[in-house]
Amino acid sequence: MPESETFAFQAEISQLMSLIINTFYSNKEIFLRELISNASDACDKIRYESLTDPSKLDAEKELFIRIVPDKENKVLEIRDSGIGMTKADLVNNLGTIAKSGTRSFMEALSSGADISMIGQFGVGFYSAYLVADKVEVITKHNDDEQYVWESAAGGSFTITRDTKYPPLGRGTLMRLHMKEDQLEYLEEKKIKEIVKKHSEFIGYPIQLVVEKEVEKDVEVEEEAKEGEDADKPKIEEITDEEKPKTKKVKEITKETEELNKTKPLWTRNPEDITKEEYASFYKALSNDWEDHLAVKHFSVEGQLEFRALLFIPSRAPFDQFEQKKKRNNIKLYVRRVFIMDDCEDLIPEWLSFVKGIVDSEDLPLNISREVLQQNKILKVIRKNLVKKCIEMFFEIAEDKEQFKKFYEAFSKNIKLGIHEDSSNRAKLAELLRYHSTKSGEEMTSLKDYVTRMPEKQKDIYYITGESKLSVETAPFLERLKKKGFEVLYLVDPIDEYSIQQLKEFDGKKLVSVTKEGLELEEDEEEKKKFEELKTQYEPLCTQIKEILGDKVEKVVLSNRIVNSPCVLVTGQYGWSANMERIMKAQALRDSSMSAYMASKKTLELNPENAIVASLKAKADADKNDKTVKDLTFLLYETALLSSGFALDDPSTFANRIHRMIKLGLSIDEDETVEVVDDLPPLEDVAVESQMEEVD
Ligand code: ADP
Ligand code: MG
Repeated sequence: MPESETFAFQAEISQLMSLIINTFYSNKEIFLRELISNASDACDKIRYESLTDPSKLDAEKELFIRIVPDKENKVLEIRDSGIGMTKADLVNNLGTIAKSGTRSFMEALSSGADISMIGQFGVGFYSAYLVADKVEVITKHNDDEQYVWESAAGGSFTITRDTKYPPLGRGTLMRLHMKEDQLEYLEEKKIKEIVKKHSEFIGYPIQLVVEKEVEKDVEVEEEAKEGEDADKPKIEEITDEEKPKTKKVKEITKETEELNKTKPLWTRNPEDITKEEYASFYKALSNDWEDHLAVKHFSVEGQLEFRALLFIPSRAPFDQFEQKKKRNNIKLYVRRVFIMDDCEDLIPEWLSFVKGIVDSEDLPLNISREVLQQNKILKVIRKNLVKKCIEMFFEIAEDKEQFKKFYEAFSKNIKLGIHEDSSNRAKLAELLRYHSTKSGEEMTSLKDYVTRMPEKQKDIYYITGESKLSVETAPFLERLKKKGFEVLYLVDPIDEYSIQQLKEFDGKKLVSVTKEGLELEEDEEEKKKFEELKTQYEPLCTQIKEILGDKVEKVVLSNRIVNSPCVLVTGQYGWSANMERIMKAQALRDSSMSAYMASKKTLELNPENAIVASLKAKADADKNDKTVKDLTFLLYETALLSSGFALDDPSTFANRIHRMIKLGLSIDEDETVEVVDDLPPLEDVAVESQMEEVD
């Protein structure tokens, strides 16, 4: 007999298994859905491989899933003729390599998630331990021998070359040794009920093999009769002498029944399909435990012909923007035959959250991934899918509550779409929703924003930042608020990217209030006054620029602030403060790019602010006043903070602030803390007066 090798489960998997095995969870039936889903995936894989190499099916031509309950031994068997697993597959896929979902699932569970969500996290296999205390996986891959994987949990599993079971040809046989209190899952009725509920729309036949006891009349053979003991009661007396002697015997026969004979849902007429049927199809397709949020079922005819069924989930998956994950969720069929489930060219990345199927009448059956990339038919299908998805979004938008749910889950995708899809950009922009200076708790669409614009307002204004809270109080909003111009809060990092591409809405420019060149419609008098101030402040601006050197590109007078002394704005085409923050947070950014994009800051001074006015007075009086320099740095650094930038050198800034605090508390520079209570030292009168103005 071949030797068994023992392997330790990876620590997190082991943890997950003991969690599953010990749970009091009542809805254990979902294990069958998970195992059938794996069987179906395995059939998908071999079918895909056979498209380019039909000989791969030689060992077993038929693709099926077969359930056999064995009550006598308390074993439930689930068999498929899918791709099977090599020994290496068994080691890697069933126990030693944890997926990101292993931990995520346990975290989700501890924060109240339901075990039935297991499939979404990519660890559905282990749900077998909800009902079984020991599991055997007998499997045969075309490229390897037949192996048995076996584990009763407890931290380890064994793999043995199989000599015990009949050859499978190809595929996998799962043998679940049922827990004593889970024997109901061996009942024909129960199995039928669960398959109907969760797996009705699986694309391969699900066969249920049950043993039936039937009574049969069998002819009693003469020899047997002769040999019979006289006192032994006869099993059956046949009175009619003319007929051959028969007796009734119990015979055990096996009956196979196909449980999912329904026609593929997408081939049916949408009018005849109930909401429940769509939901059940969606769940089987997506492993989701919740109903879909929206569905679109349509066919395209004409030069090219296909049917499609598209679903929007009710929420975003836990790994929505993870790099490694499967790029899309649309299964491709050709004339009802499943081809592949992650055809990248079928739908753009920004729509990767949409799930569904496409069934083409025109594509060749034996199409490979490489050929598909170039395929014109596929390009047309893709364009249609995008169009229908957008239609579906607008349908959702008709219901405010539904749309809110949708937007919370997928607004990032819409914004990504705006960034990437120039032909649908304008349409998608109508779906955007933002908080604003006037929206209150609700969010506003750009369309509603436009209807609220005062007549003299020409552009649409927005501010980007880290959070609603941080932008709400930004100095940049001061003048706009005063003028009654609404400002949108763009506080999602992706907004920075999408808004750059969008540029305008409904013929109106989208203008950042934190960037250079903000033109607020002023009347003639205001303009004249501003020009005069500009001339007056010219020397101060020059002096401050000299003091700050390369830290700023320019120093100018501002018309966008009302209360604050100054703000830092960035170049129209450069990064905003928020973008700089986002880029700094991205470890792999190109540093040459950041030097180029991030450096151009303009310091804008508010001539109406008392600090700025008295700084001017001070500088006018004495060009070499040391405090002007110190105060300039302090103003610059506080402007960095209030404008949303990070400080390059926080400790120097802190020192400057401490000096000011000491002045405020009238502590002498050299004095130690112990003498604070003493009489105030002599003050530099100029600085004292400055402090008062700061107040
Ligand atoms: P998922 O199905 O999301 O990948 P599972 O935990 O259900 O996660 O399954 C883990 C892996 O084990 C599968 O990805 C597959 O590689 C392998 N596997 C499970 N069941 C089968 C099967 N019946 N045939 C072939 N491979 C299987
Ligand atoms: Mg699975």
